[in-house]
Amino acid sequence: MSLFVQKYGGTSVGSIERIEAVADKVAAFRAKGHEMVVVLSAMSGETNRLIELAYQIQERPDPRELDVLVSTGEQVTIALLSMALKKRGYDACSYTGGQVKILTDNAHTKARIQQIDVERMRRDLDAGRVVVVAGFQGVDGDGNITTLGRGGSDTTGVALAAALDATECQIYTDVDGVYTTDPRVVDSARRLDRITFEEMLEMASLGSKVLQIRAVEFAGKYKVPLRVLSTFEEGNGTLISLDEEDNEMEQPVVSGIAFNRDEAKLTIRGVPDNPGVACRILAPIGAENIEVDVIVQNISAVDGTTDFTFTVHRNDLRKAREVLERVAAELGAREVVSDDKIAKVSIVGVGMRSHANVASRMFSALGEDNINIQMITTSEIKISVIIDERYLELAVRALHSEFELSEPRQTR
Ligand code: ADP
Ligand code: ASP
Ligand code: MG
Repeated sequence: MSLFVQKYGGTSVGSIERIEAVADKVAAFRAKGHEMVVVLSAMSGETNRLIELAYQIQERPDPRELDVLVSTGEQVTIALLSMALKKRGYDACSYTGGQVKILTDNAHTKARIQQIDVERMRRDLDAGRVVVVAGFQGVDGDGNITTLGRGGSDTTGVALAAALDATECQIYTDVDGVYTTDPRVVDSARRLDRITFEEMLEMASLGSKVLQIRAVEFAGKYKVPLRVLSTFEEGNGTLISLDEEDNEMEQPVVSGIAFNRDEAKLTIRGVPDNPGVACRILAPIGAENIEVDVIVQNISAVDGTTDFTFTVHRNDLRKAREVLERVAAELGAREVVSDDKIAKVSIVGVGMRSHANVASRMFSALGEDNINIQMITTSEIKISVIIDERYLELAVRALHSEFELSEPRQTR
């Protein structure tokens, strides 16, 4: 007998028919004697709908009330699934995050899980019940409802699996695993049987929304076996491998391509090039809780000034620009310019560690398609470039083909 935590995403529970189909799947596992904990998202589109309602009332919705509002989406699906299971003769019970007691900090809309009380779930499992838990939500120390950030049901799934010491956490979604890149952008993208934990972490942090980054972090920290699979088709999906051997064996240079359209670029031009200037520009940005991603400082021009460019989340652009205008005045810089029509494309692979020339191959593939690179950032296992958003899909396809990601890769 095994304990499975299965998480079903929004599309998988997007209608009554689909919830009934999920109930059939869960019932089949239960019928085999497995202990089952099911984590659900809201019906697809529901979280967006709720957020839009809030924006109709307030330009900047109150974060506490926003969490009370958006957490309702998941409450609907857990109740419906429990009913569907009962209809099939299986005992089931639904719980909100607060009822389980998924304790989080109080950072509304992006709260972090601190502790999970397993007692109630354990009691239900021992009584043969299927436990159905609302994803994406928790409760803070004062009893306020919190949510875990978009895509947060993945994190609920992995966190419950860690707390209950589950055999495996299975993330059921509308694709049959993790692909070399988003299969909706590149037709020839290929499903990976396994991906190393490190690569998955990079892919998620660089924009592949198939798993929320915090879910991957949790899986790594608590060594939770994690698998992504399709709700609609049979198959083994993709295993996120924590196996050291996978890192040591011969790996393809690049395993996947991630991208995102969530960033915007700011440049402060003609800054006097003195020691400490980067700090004087970025410290006020940090003080406003704005995260900075890619940074480039040009070499000093003949007149002793320099240009300093960085990217932030698009939602933070307006605030960042206000701060930067102020800094520019203080520093006597020439001007501030910004651009929100940019995209970040990244190649990811642990194989890069042992291969030279990966960057030049990337840059020449983009150059051949006349795609201008605006900024570059690298780490041991990834290279990211900022480009004009218009060329995003072209760039992803060019890189997918340059690194031969459509070709079958050796599996073990
Ligand atoms: P769910 O609602 O089930 O959580 P999401 O929409 O959050 O589903 O995540 C699944 C989607 O992630 C897929 O439909 C796919 O378009 C997208 N995606 C992005 N990058 C990848 C990738 N490398 N492999 C698979 N899917 C990806
Ligand atoms: N319903 C939430 C969202 O749309 C959480 C999730 O689906 O993971 O972001
Ligand atoms: Mg998701």
